[in-house]
Amino acid sequence: MGKPEALFARSFSARYAARTVLAIGAHPDDLELGVGGTLARLAREGAHVVMAVASIPGDFATRRREAEAAAALLGCELRILLDGGARRIEDLKSYELVALIDRAVRELSPAALVTHCASEVHRDHVLVHNACLSAQRLGHFDFMTFQPTMCRPMPVPFQARAYFDVTPTIDAKMQAIAAHASQFASRGIDLEIFRDLARLTGRLVGLPYAEGLDIGRMVLD
Ligand SMILES: [Zn+2]
Repeated sequence: MGKPEALFARSFSARYAARTVLAIGAHPDDLELGVGGTLARLAREGAHVVMAVASIPGDFATRRREAEAAAALLGCELRILLDGGARRIEDLKSYELVALIDRAVRELSPAALVTHCASEVHRDHVLVHNACLSAQRLGHFDFMTFQPTMCRPMPVPFQARAYFDVTPTIDAKMQAIAAHASQFASRGIDLEIFRDLARLTGRLVGLPYAEGLDIGRMVLD
C-alpha cells in the first residue's frame, strides 16, 4: 500500500526543500557518523545543507581535505568555523563559542539546526550542543539533535523521537565516513558497525536503514 498523497506533500525532505539546513558538528566526521544519511537525503531532495565543523584538532590539512571529500559525497557544503589551523573547542571561552555559532546562524538563517545531543560522552561535543541551544534565541528554526558519535561506539543514552529513512543514502553515508581515512582505516577501525547501527535504528521502525533524531523544537505551520 502506498503512502497517502498528503504524506508526500508534507514529507520531512519536502519541509526543507529550497531552504537551508545547518548541521553543526564539533569535529570532522561527527556529522557523517551521526546524521550523514539524513543530510545526504535532504540535500538530494532539494535542501541547501551546510555541514559546519566547529574545529579541526590535529593534522589540519589532512582532516580538512577528508572533510571536504566527505561533504562532497553527501552533496553538502562544508564550512570550518574555526578555520585556518588546528584548534580545539576547549580553547574558546563559552561566549566565544556561542558567538562563533551565532555568526553562522545569522548568516545562513537556517530552517533547521541539527547538532550533537546533550548526552554525548565527548565534553567538547556537549559544549557545541550548549552553544547551539543558545542560538535558538536568534530565530524560530527547527532544532534537532542526533545520536552520540564516537569512532568506537559504546552504549550511551539517547532517545530518538523521530526516525528518517536513510535507505537511499546509506551507501553515501558509509563512503563519507570512509573518507575520514585518518580516523578509521589508518587506525584499524571497522566501519561496518555504523551500517549496523543504521540498520538497527531502521528495524525499530520498519525501515531497512534509518537515523534517529531527537526534536528539541519544531515549528509547525
Ligand atoms: Zn568529535
